[in-house]
Amino acid sequence: MSDTKMSLLDLEQKTDFVRRHIGPNTAEQTEMLALLGLGSLEELSDKTVPKAILETDALALAGSQTETDVLAHARSIAMKNKVFKSFIGMGYYGTHVPKVILRNVLENPGWYTAYTPYQAEISQGRLEAVLNYQTMITDLSGMELANSSMLDEGTAAAEAMTFCRRVAKSKATVFFVDQDLLPQSIAVIKTRADALGYEVLVGDPRKDLDPTAVYGALFQYPGVSGRIDDYSDLIAAIQANKGLAGLAADLLALTLIKSPGELGADFAIGSAQRFGVPMGFGGPHAGYFATRDSFKRSIPARLVGMSVDSHGEPALRMALQTREQHIRRDKATSNICTAQALLANMAGFYATYHGPEGLKTIARRVARLTSIFAAGLKAAGIEVLHDAFFDTVSIKVEGKADAIAAKARDNKMNLRVVDADTLGVSVDETTSRDDIEVLWSVFGVAGPSVVELDKTTDSNLPVALARRTKFLTHPTFNSYHSETEMMRYLRKLADKDIGLDRAMIPLGSCTMKLNAVTEMIPVTWPEFGEIHPFVPLDQAQGYVELIKDLENMLVEITGYDAVSLQPNSGSQGEYAGLLAIRKYHESRGDLQRNICLIPASAHGTNPASAALAGMKVVVVNCDEEGYVDNEDLYAKAEKHQENLAAVMITYPSTHGVFEEEVRKTCSIVHDFGGQVYVDGANMNAMVGLAKPGHFGGDVSHLNLHKTFCIPHGGGGPGVGPIGVGKHLAPFLPNHSLVNEAGPETGQGAVTSAPWGSASILPITWSYLKLMGSAGLKKATQVAILNANYLAKRLSDHYPVLYSSKNGMVAHECIIDVRPIKDDIGVTVDDIAKRLIDYGFHAPTMSFPVPGTLMIEPTESESKYEIDRLADAMISIRKEIDRVASGELPLEDNMLCNAPHTAASMLSETWDHPYSREEAAYPVAALRDGKYWAPVGRVDNVYGDRNLVCSCPSIESYRDAAE
Ligand SMILES: *Cc1c(COP(=O)(O)O)cnc(C)c1O
Repeated sequence: MSDTKMSLLDLEQKTDFVRRHIGPNTAEQTEMLALLGLGSLEELSDKTVPKAILETDALALAGSQTETDVLAHARSIAMKNKVFKSFIGMGYYGTHVPKVILRNVLENPGWYTAYTPYQAEISQGRLEAVLNYQTMITDLSGMELANSSMLDEGTAAAEAMTFCRRVAKSKATVFFVDQDLLPQSIAVIKTRADALGYEVLVGDPRKDLDPTAVYGALFQYPGVSGRIDDYSDLIAAIQANKGLAGLAADLLALTLIKSPGELGADFAIGSAQRFGVPMGFGGPHAGYFATRDSFKRSIPARLVGMSVDSHGEPALRMALQTREQHIRRDKATSNICTAQALLANMAGFYATYHGPEGLKTIARRVARLTSIFAAGLKAAGIEVLHDAFFDTVSIKVEGKADAIAAKARDNKMNLRVVDADTLGVSVDETTSRDDIEVLWSVFGVAGPSVVELDKTTDSNLPVALARRTKFLTHPTFNSYHSETEMMRYLRKLADKDIGLDRAMIPLGSCTMKLNAVTEMIPVTWPEFGEIHPFVPLDQAQGYVELIKDLENMLVEITGYDAVSLQPNSGSQGEYAGLLAIRKYHESRGDLQRNICLIPASAHGTNPASAALAGMKVVVVNCDEEGYVDNEDLYAKAEKHQENLAAVMITYPSTHGVFEEEVRKTCSIVHDFGGQVYVDGANMNAMVGLAKPGHFGGDVSHLNLHKTFCIPHGGGGPGVGPIGVGKHLAPFLPNHSLVNEAGPETGQGAVTSAPWGSASILPITWSYLKLMGSAGLKKATQVAILNANYLAKRLSDHYPVLYSSKNGMVAHECIIDVRPIKDDIGVTVDDIAKRLIDYGFHAPTMSFPVPGTLMIEPTESESKYEIDRLADAMISIRKEIDRVASGELPLEDNMLCNAPHTAASMLSETWDHPYSREEAAYPVAALRDGKYWAPVGRVDNVYGDRNLVCSCPSIESYRDAAE
């Protein structure tokens, strides 16, 4: 056969990225289709996706491009961003990402592809990293407890308000906000307060605050102006009136000035960005929230804590609120699900690597340079507004602010223009002596030298507020200061975990697909990383182009008319989408429309977000098939027709089926004046096949960290853009500091940065370019194929719970374990933990149906890997049969004892009724590359009863456990 028969086009298609992204090759796809009795992928989608919604036209996107071409294109876009030195401050600072962390964490799939650590036993490495982060926050803030991260400082500030409202005993109705708070935090607070009908007073704490009239207050420490004030008197006065008070505090400053805890604060919030996380045009980075132990049940988001495993050894897991939204739904403390785990881990490692002394040195140098800079200005007769400051000075320049800022830009430097008469200059870890001298010249100050002024300049840190308490005394922060030790520590932790670099992570609803390296590479380019979110937009034209292009592609994929990329997680997208609905109703005079219908099977964030958007949740039933019960929906929509705001449905449903009647569901709600929110977390079943904007949705969020390849990071970052119909477009998020970020009539800011987590948008952008129109559709089809193939392979061994009328599932399937539990006593937990012995991350447990496992293979998993999982599940089924037959007792078998650690295998005595061999190597293939769980099964109850959420000394912990 002659080669020359193949055209160039054929040859190029054979080598494109699509076949790298999609697991099964063409021959395997044919084989898998055959098992389902199907001849082609087209036949599969015709059979699976309801006719009423199946799109006939191809996506109007370009064709697949090669990895080389996409990287070159991304590079050309990146080069349109101008990397200036930032002295803007406002909560975003230049930082040196320690290279050992850059390479071994941010660029390491072992860290970035992992999932939120619900399965504690295979997550001990990243749980330890999060515990380090929590310890760092707890220590620096002087509080008793810190959570595992917030989405950013602005959302943390908004959560602080709702937290105060929940917890404070005061009957006052006002939340006080320091006017020296970061302006973007004030904006996010106002959006939240507006939705909930809360009253906010922004003012000067020393003039406008009446401690008897507020239930809560938040002060910035140091303020955005740079000023440091001691608020302990105001804090005490508010507390005397049963209110709560807290500080938005800068972590680097806290190494040198008294902590919020020492000042008596009830809580502290802020950002960990400057601890080694690039500015990234606004995100992602970790926000923090710390408070008193007594408020531990009211703290928003997740908390990692110590517990013990089945052998009595210390083990970590997520504590208390782990499944909070799924249990408490609209009563949940917050809607945060995906947070900022990867960035929190980076910040924690930054502190681990530098240690307390290293951090203090960095902070002292920053403070020193700032003082020297101010001294130079003052010596030249320029007025510096405050005496007590850390890294920021406000400078009076009488009408010359714009001119001086322009001159700074000529020197590739950005200053903060506060108003025509005032400039702000903030120094950070990356500022050099030369920078200070150039800054002086920009201000028209000639002559001083940094070295000379260093000899005569006093500190501007207030003596009375000098920090005398220790922090980061735990060995973790004092052991890994050489690069070799740090590298090994990071490797040790990563080796404890299962990420996508080890095995498939078949988590239903979470879409753990390939995060290709080519997609990740642009994220660490300085042209994307080192851009402050509030630079003049002519310096961010690369971002502007990329954002516009991505928005357009997402508009095409979803069938909506406009997209906002601002929400930085799925749940934030839900909140923003519901706010758009609210504003729309309000614009039509329908102020009373506040009822949100939500099916019983909805993801827990849906009701939690509805509550945040100021809506009342009415639950709609699901029928036995797991479908939304349209009769019940009709009855409830009719009953509430005067007040109906919206319905929130998930499509395909959380049960993993394409509901035939979805158009009807939408029209019922529309007929009664409501809007339709389609939760797009399951978009991986629809890209290229169906569009929510076409079958009745008015708004959807997408999870770019599910369908669109942003890695999950062990619990974040994420991006949750929303697509909306034309009528909702005027109500998308906008931003008080950046007009271009949204419509003038918009809902306000839902996150601190105008485009949320902008620096990870190149991942999704690259994915869409790499796959192209046909590749995206094929990915969806193979995702559906993989799920149906797996369901078919398992169906003789486990009941598959839901499928559409023709027996097909969508992109995921639910395995029902309840009959096994009822008849035999083996639980869904036992199966999940036994899968660890086989080297797998468990599927999603008990969502949306208790006692079930939801499996989503995604298109990226090969037939080999799916077969390996199926074989493991079938082998486990045989083990269950041995328990059922009485061969193995219910209380001592390889299921209930799973996972098995290497230490337990090597014990002197082995008195179980099954062999070590059966425990560790139930299938022969495990002999090649066995994953050993570092701990036995983790005891959740013990940990919740004995809550420890920062690094304890291991000895003290062992003592307590005895
Ligand atoms: C993941 C998910 C969400 C929440 O998204 P986050 O990004 O984690 O906030 C909402 N709905 C469904 C169905 C999901 O699977």
